Amino acid sequence: MVIVFLGPPGAGKGTQAKRLATDLGVRHVSTGDVLRSAVERGTELGRTAAAYLDKGALVPDETMLALIAELLDRRDHDRGLVLDGFPRTAPQAEGLDRLLRERGRELDAVILLDIAEEEAVRRLTSRVCCSKCGGITNLLADPSAADGVCDACGGRLERRSDDTPDVIRARFKEYRALTQPTLDYYRARGMLRRVDAGRPIDDVAGDIAEAVAGSGPGRAAG
Ligand code: AMP
Repeated sequence: MVIVFLGPPGAGKGTQAKRLATDLGVRHVSTGDVLRSAVERGTELGRTAAAYLDKGALVPDETMLALIAELLDRRDHDRGLVLDGFPRTAPQAEGLDRLLRERGRELDAVILLDIAEEEAVRRLTSRVCCSKCGGITNLLADPSAADGVCDACGGRLERRSDDTPDVIRARFKEYRALTQPTLDYYRARGMLRRVDAGRPIDDVAGDIAEAVAGSGPGRAAG
């Protein structure tokens, strides 16, 4: 099973993709998390990606496709993957189709988390991530009991370095220019399932579960 999440920064892709992956018993892969960890560890991928991440620009398609090919071939990804943050350009979407075809696999569902830009910016500027468990918290909607401490595991809560107003603006610009054509790619194939992501987490999760149940190879959306 391979499921793709699309949507602008701040739509809740990380939160929802993690939850869906847990419910389905498959792996959640956030390309942003993979890249951030590579930057921290100073690997070759991290050295390539660092400058792009700092500016809110997209890492080149060839780099991303090589990374996804490697991830698809990992043993623990056999049962399936929920991809969060990939594909983000039309060439990445075409490349993903090719990589899956070469491995005798197919895309099961493409979920678009749709949200007004204003609301997404509001979420991004008030979100923190736990440095220990990776949990995402929104300080406006759900403030932690102790300042700067994760309610779930006691880890330190941190802001993402690319959640600053300038970089957020750059990420939206990239989204409009490069990711919108990705939506068209899947729309033309009848695969895109739109979910209104501006609502409470549980409501959005319910709609995603329905959209996934109604998707699948050969089942085009209306
Ligand atoms: P995210 O955590 O999904 O918001 O991604 C953070 C940053 O990682 C993006 O602003 C890009 O610089 C980079 N990135 C993540 N996924 C991709 C991708 N599929 N293609 C290109 N760059 C990516």
